[in-house]
Amino acid sequence: MKYNPKFAEVGASLPGFSNLHPLTAQIEGGEPLAAGSLEAIWESERLLQEVTGMEAFTMQPMAGAQGELTGILLIAAYHRSKGNRKTKVIVPDSAHGTNPATATMAGYEVINIESRDGMVDPEALAAVLDDSVAALMMTCPNTLGLFERHLPEIVKLLRSVDALLYYDGANFNACMGRLRTGDVGFDVVHLNLHKTMGTPHGGGGPGSGPVGVSARLEPFLPGPRVVRHADGSFGLKHDLPQSIGQVAPFYGNFSMYLRALAYMLRCGGEGLARATTYAVLNANYMLARLRDHLHIPYDRICMHEFVASASPLGEYGVHALDLAKALLDKGYHAPTIYFPLIVKECLMFEPTETESRETLDRFCDDLIAIIERARVNPQAIQDAPLTLPVRRLDETRAARSMIVTEEKS
Ligand SMILES: *Cc1c(COP(=O)(O)O)cnc(C)c1O
Repeated sequence: MKYNPKFAEVGASLPGFSNLHPLTAQIEGGEPLAAGSLEAIWESERLLQEVTGMEAFTMQPMAGAQGELTGILLIAAYHRSKGNRKTKVIVPDSAHGTNPATATMAGYEVINIESRDGMVDPEALAAVLDDSVAALMMTCPNTLGLFERHLPEIVKLLRSVDALLYYDGANFNACMGRLRTGDVGFDVVHLNLHKTMGTPHGGGGPGSGPVGVSARLEPFLPGPRVVRHADGSFGLKHDLPQSIGQVAPFYGNFSMYLRALAYMLRCGGEGLARATTYAVLNANYMLARLRDHLHIPYDRICMHEFVASASPLGEYGVHALDLAKALLDKGYHAPTIYFPLIVKECLMFEPTETESRETLDRFCDDLIAIIERARVNPQAIQDAPLTLPVRRLDETRAARSMIVTEEKS
């Protein structure tokens, strides 16, 4: 997403939702007073189950990274309950950087495996697999914007040592209506609703990183959980003896996933699939337009994003950073340039489903003009940005002598 659709904002600010005290459902006799909100949580979980094919969801995690931690804690709880002694989590080098950080925070040793041809390599995976492996964390589409080709083989390998499969689905806007993680055999998936459903990434607001699980992990989900009683009324269930406990205050970022709920209801299954189609089509269109102007290290059909490299401009002394700064002058948000680590001088382009052919063309034209200028007048690009209130910042000084308080005026 690049935009906040208005209908989702309106839905989330309905007074019945926004004026309700968050403890209402927890006071005696309060559940009926919070019936609408409880139903919204229940319905959000149910729709996400349908989108992903998972058995159950928790809406509590408030960001992708927190969803990951929740997921890995669920996996740890599962292994503990079975008496499994597991100490390692495998993370491919094409995974998102939060994955190894998460596994480390949860107390696991991280085993890195190298990708081959941009893909998780089943042979490299098999070489490090043994009974001490708790899980594999897989980002799909991976950070190169590529779909992992060997999923069935990978699932089979992990199953052979009772290791679980974690799917980093932060970029599920490349998969909706096309792939369900539950159908492929994954045990845990987190989604970034603030990238995929009704709110943009880095939009300045809070996030929502709900986690879906397979049936065997359901008993460990965070509580309290919203339940629907036989008579159709909604309530909270606190008696969850195997739960890993609460991972967020109240029910997570409620108003964020209300926006996602509005988005899902408005789009329907078909609309979500169409959003995915456009996200993927737009990225491939841009890739085709930029292919002859930058280096494309993994040049094939991409998913919702692709990674290019500014390495051909090295001989002019122009780097990815310079192109990113020059784009600011033209009024664009700069692409990610320090990630993924496996591509030098990388530029990651993710146009999203909401751009039109015209805006995609305008961006490509402007970027191509910058690249051509870099060849004849590198200095002009190295000096960018020229039109912003601040030019290039001294990033080292900014990090070393950080000023985090404001002068009293
Ligand atoms: C954005 C992202 C994350 C982290 O999500 P946050 O909400 O920023 O914590 C994790 N994995 C992938 C693949 C992502 O794109």
